[in-house]
Amino acid sequence: MISNSAVELFQQRETPFYHYDLTLLKGTIDSVKSLAKQFDFDIHYAVKANSNERILQELRDAGFGADCVSGNEVKLAAEMGFPVDSILFAGVGKTDKEINLALELNIKAFNCESIQEVEVLNQLALAQDKVAEIALRINPNVDAKTHKYITTGLDENKFGINQIDLPEFILRLPEFSNVKLTGLHFHIGSQITDMKVFKGLCLRVNEIQNWFADNGVQIEHLNLGGGLGIDYNSPDKNSIPDFKTYFTIFSEFLERKANQKVHFELGRSIVGQCGSLISRVVFIKKGLNTSFAIVDAGMTELMRPALYQSYHQIDNLTSSGEEAVYDVVGPICESTDCFGKAVKLPETKRGDLIALRSAGAYGEVMTSRYNLRDQNEPLYTN
Ligand SMILES: *Cc1c(COP(=O)(O)O)cnc(C)c1O
Repeated sequence: MISNSAVELFQQRETPFYHYDLTLLKGTIDSVKSLAKQFDFDIHYAVKANSNERILQELRDAGFGADCVSGNEVKLAAEMGFPVDSILFAGVGKTDKEINLALELNIKAFNCESIQEVEVLNQLALAQDKVAEIALRINPNVDAKTHKYITTGLDENKFGINQIDLPEFILRLPEFSNVKLTGLHFHIGSQITDMKVFKGLCLRVNEIQNWFADNGVQIEHLNLGGGLGIDYNSPDKNSIPDFKTYFTIFSEFLERKANQKVHFELGRSIVGQCGSLISRVVFIKKGLNTSFAIVDAGMTELMRPALYQSYHQIDNLTSSGEEAVYDVVGPICESTDCFGKAVKLPETKRGDLIALRSAGAYGEVMTSRYNLRDQNEPLYTN
């Protein structure tokens, strides 16, 4: 819930801007942290979900590691004080420059996604006279039952090494003198709300790690990635995701070997609900069948609806009039610049403040300056 005192602060500011509820963020972090401790799971925050420095500080102070998908994320995480031995580097297309930077910083491990990548990493590590720890990202061919643009664990996706390439990988492993395989990594998609999917993942992981054991490779680290979804439909009712059910599934179905470490890379589930995009209504335009509420935020501030048709709850923070139906759209010159069709809102007028909820993950990080947009500083409240 956005408090009245927060709305008073919003009134004094130029819109659009991101608002972060740090109390909710801290509450969410506490929930993850205490449950992870209970289950003996290790948490790495997926920096790409939100790399805002104020947010990163909270995650660093919580003692989480960092899961990065670019050289610049690795660099930022290190600069922000995440311990380098807790930084992981994933991604299908790591360039030599990015790999060299991560090697120089002595990060914990690389999540590698192809045999060619391991070859290149081996050469670059040799040149720096280092041994790089790797986890092999395996595409487990598990359907995450989420939007097709955010599914990553099917054979047809570009992510991870396919299982048919594993025998060749194992054969060639001794060649890679400057690479040490210590883990297996899986990340099958994002905004996963069907918990059965995670059970399916556990069962595949068990098979795969047994296959490695049968081929003489013992695995020290299992990394199950992220992907736990949030409730975009009821951000106030379910402001903190059900981490307990999520972790319980892994604890029940994952066959954990003696002394094996289990890691998660959570992004959206930690930061998604604490952020809202705050905007003002510029005009109300009556169409033939619909009324448009044209707001001053657009796909340039929150790209998710335009990118993968995602839903964000829209609240009018300053009206309590009678309900009416609006298409809530931004000012950008693209027809996909629409936050919601046929949205029920209290009677909405020029100047009203609008909140696009659940925008803490994959919101601010995807901001662009298309149409030469201004970028306003976020607001943080406790
Ligand atoms: C994006 C990503 C995550 C985080 O996903 P969420 O759905 O935000 O939890 C974790 N691991 C990898 C490798 C990723 O690319």
